[in-house]
Amino acid sequence: MIRIAIQSKGRLSEESLALLAEIGIKIDDSRRKFLAQTPDFPLELLYMRDDDIPQVVAAGTADLGIVGLNEVEERGFPLQVVRKLGFGACRISLAIPKAVEYDGLAWFEGKRIATSYPGILKKYLADNKINAKVEVITGSVEIAPAAGIADAIFDIVSSGGTLVSNGLKEVEKVFFSEAVLVSAGPLADEKQALLDEILFRLDSAVVSRKKKYLLMNIPESSLDEAVRILPAMRSPTLMPLTAKGWYSMHSVVEESQLWDKIRQLKAIGAEGILVLNIDKIIP
Ligand code: ATP
Ligand code: MG
Repeated sequence: MIRIAIQSKGRLSEESLALLAEIGIKIDDSRRKFLAQTPDFPLELLYMRDDDIPQVVAAGTADLGIVGLNEVEERGFPLQVVRKLGFGACRISLAIPKAVEYDGLAWFEGKRIATSYPGILKKYLADNKINAKVEVITGSVEIAPAAGIADAIFDIVSSGGTLVSNGLKEVEKVFFSEAVLVSAGPLADEKQALLDEILFRLDSAVVSRKKKYLLMNIPESSLDEAVRILPAMRSPTLMPLTAKGWYSMHSVVEESQLWDKIRQLKAIGAEGILVLNIDKIIP
């Protein structure tokens, strides 16, 4: 049995559950419970506030955690990032009132900065040799300047809309975060085997997300050229069509190259091109 801590309610919870579902681990939505099991896999889910996840993993109460890298960094427990998960992207930035002129980091010298991330902020200020007063606020940090509690804020930004609507502007992007899978280090054999299985599934899900399955008809005279355009895991699959001189060709392409490949294939006479999503790729 392996135990994973995930956020119970918040920005990461839906996507954490969706990711587990994507790798075949479905949890009946019993989020009111603190601990949930799954029929598909020897796994227990521990639902908690995201702030507590690093500590719970460091203490061994959970073997793994899905949490923002910002919380991992802020809490400072010695954890290993096992995988970056590609969702929950945000950054922690310094922001000041829009009307104030900004002339570089030295502006912050002697100023008061409100934040819920004092650990990351103090390290950044020390690294840049800035003396500023850090005011720890847990609630709505963005109202601190208007409320007269601080001159600036250090807070999470994703689109920047919240800053603008509070009359602030982002002046320094300090820390970039996304959701990560963390552990406290080596696991016992049985748990490590389960983690390996989870990672195997996760990696094939991530790989397949960036790829497309391509099918098309190719005239025989263009086959060599088509194979050159479309390298596949071994080589593209070819099947003769009943129409003489034509083949059906199948291959897998990187999504980023899709339109370029299609353009090249059309230029050598490919017809009836189909592009399909891939559910899983098991190399
Ligand atoms: P909890 O009740 O679990 O403590 P919370 O209010 O601290 O929740 P959320 O707002 O749900 O946290 O955010 C969880 C994580 O989502 C953040 O720590 C961060 O990693 C990520 N995130 C992504 N975009 C944003 C954003 N725009 N604002 C806040 N967090 C974001
Ligand atoms: Mg929190």
